[in-house]
Amino acid sequence: IPACKAPAYRLNDGNHMPRFGFGTWLGFDNNQVPVPVTDDSVQKAVELALEAGYRHIDTAAIYDDEDQVGKAVSNKIEEGVVKRDEVFITTKLWNDKHACDSVVPALQESLQKLNTSYVDLFLMHWPFATESKFSMKFVETDYLETWQGMVEAKKLGLAKSIGVCNFNLGQLQRLWNNSDVKPAVLQVETNLNIQQPELREFCHNHDIAVMGYTPFGSLFPSRARPGAPPPRVDDPHLVAIAQKYNKTVPQVVLRYLFELGVTPIPKSVTKTRIEENLDIFNFQLDEFDRQHLKTYHSNYRVVDVKFFSEATYYPF
Ligand code: NDP
Repeated sequence: IPACKAPAYRLNDGNHMPRFGFGTWLGFDNNQVPVPVTDDSVQKAVELALEAGYRHIDTAAIYDDEDQVGKAVSNKIEEGVVKRDEVFITTKLWNDKHACDSVVPALQESLQKLNTSYVDLFLMHWPFATESKFSMKFVETDYLETWQGMVEAKKLGLAKSIGVCNFNLGQLQRLWNNSDVKPAVLQVETNLNIQQPELREFCHNHDIAVMGYTPFGSLFPSRARPGAPPPRVDDPHLVAIAQKYNKTVPQVVLRYLFELGVTPIPKSVTKTRIEENLDIFNFQLDEFDRQHLKTYHSNYRVVDVKFFSEATYYPF
């Protein structure tokens, strides 16, 4: 992919995905409530990301910012910075659109907001279904049924590749065993505290690409909940590793995930950080440092969505 700073990964359906992406979710506030989208900061951030060399943008229907992603990409196409086929765009199906015949219309709505005729990747956001957008009333729709709608979207050319997010190992195995069109990507939380060894092994053996969301986990004090396990960004051992490579701690973390075979999708709306995060393709961690970084794994999640825990297909 021209001008892309990250190497590409050949997915199991033959398409290519840049192995580094840009997150666009504004996150939860301190009360676990999603931060509302009130200005054009996402559009500006995506424009900065494309200028910096990102070619893979992650959004979702529920983020309420597909229109901003669409504007940013369109602007950069108009300015000649990128062509549409050089940008890998991912969006996601929300939980209230899991009925098989709701999937294609939901994607069409996303495409309209994104101002494009296809997405490169369409992901099922969660394995469970809800009655309406913000409802906590669960519907028993089986994700295998939803998957058939995703397959239809791929057949129609509305999504080049399809995959899932937040499936646990049993759910992923069941989907694999019951689908003709296999998921190309699994997007799951992956950071120092939750390194996903079992899911990564399954995906490696079944040629499913692993995309890692919330790649910084609890690294930054502003995002660490009380009681969140270490390390923080000022951890002396991490600082020493970063100094050794003349890199920053966030860069070391992203590089570690990349070397695990994961495609990290860090989010930032800050120009210097957007550029900093992508600058990880000119160094390699040694085995000693990798072994140290491995020790932080404790299966601790930032995105545990306990408020969904009553759903039949709740994954965690
Ligand atoms: P991240 O781990 O990407 O962390 C984002 C936070 O880190 C922001 O507060 C950002 O601040 C800060 N930050 C980024 N880079 C740096 C840096 N170099 N130094 C200091 N601070 C930094 O968390 P996300 O939860 O946003 O995950 C990334 C993306 O993954 C999301 O945006 C979304 O696209 C996707 N995602 C998918 C989920 C799913 O269910 N499928 C769930 C959660 C996320 P600032 O922006 O102010 O610079």
